[in-house]
Amino acid sequence: MLELSDVQAWIAACARVLHDHAEELSALDRAIGDGDHGTNMDRGFAVCARLAGQEEFATVETYLKKVGMTLVSTIGGASGPLYGTFFLRMAGPLGRVPTVSALQLGQALRAGVDGVVVRGKATAGDKTMYDALAPALAAYEDALASGADLDRCLTAMAAAAEEGRDATVPMIARKGRASYLGERSAGHLDPGAASAALILGAAAATLQRSP
Ligand code: ADP
Ligand code: MG
Repeated sequence: MLELSDVQAWIAACARVLHDHAEELSALDRAIGDGDHGTNMDRGFAVCARLAGQEEFATVETYLKKVGMTLVSTIGGASGPLYGTFFLRMAGPLGRVPTVSALQLGQALRAGVDGVVVRGKATAGDKTMYDALAPALAAYEDALASGADLDRCLTAMAAAAEEGRDATVPMIARKGRASYLGERSAGHLDPGAASAALILGAAAATLQRSP
């Protein structure tokens, strides 16, 4: 079972890892976009990481809603509303329960990824964050269905996110700024897929029960 403090540790880890990779994410975005993805993510998650010390949150649901709203209002560009929606929607299935099970986390992840699709209309192969999020979610759900515990579900999810991220290299972007480049977008890693893999990797690193 996960508690609010675990989820807050995940967001803090996201802020650290996105800060450490900010230059790399912006460099990826310079190649096929406008070069702001790293600074966008760094700024937004730094604000989110401070929330836990500024406010009392009664449940994981209220905390994740605040994280989502904060991301929408602090991250410029396409990724702010998309990641904001991801965390806002994740809050829904968690209800007002004090702890989160592996099943509930899977339902929350599904709601989050579905929210990204509703908001951004990306499909598989469009060379977006969805190409990391979708296989990661599928891997989590497959692991859960085969009887895996939370740790194994998270490990499978993070590995699939990295594979999904790497698979964006040959893709031709069909959504967002990179799509303006047409075929010239091929041969580059999608910055949003890279940040999604970092966020899900941080989840695996912080939410696992056995060290
Ligand atoms: P902007 O493109 O507005 O500068 P960012 O650089 O912060 O925003 O984010 C770019 C990333 O957003 C892309 O690499 C891609 O993964 C993601 N993205 C853009 N449009 C969409 C969309 N419609 N659906 C899903 N992800 C998208
Ligand atoms: Mg950009």
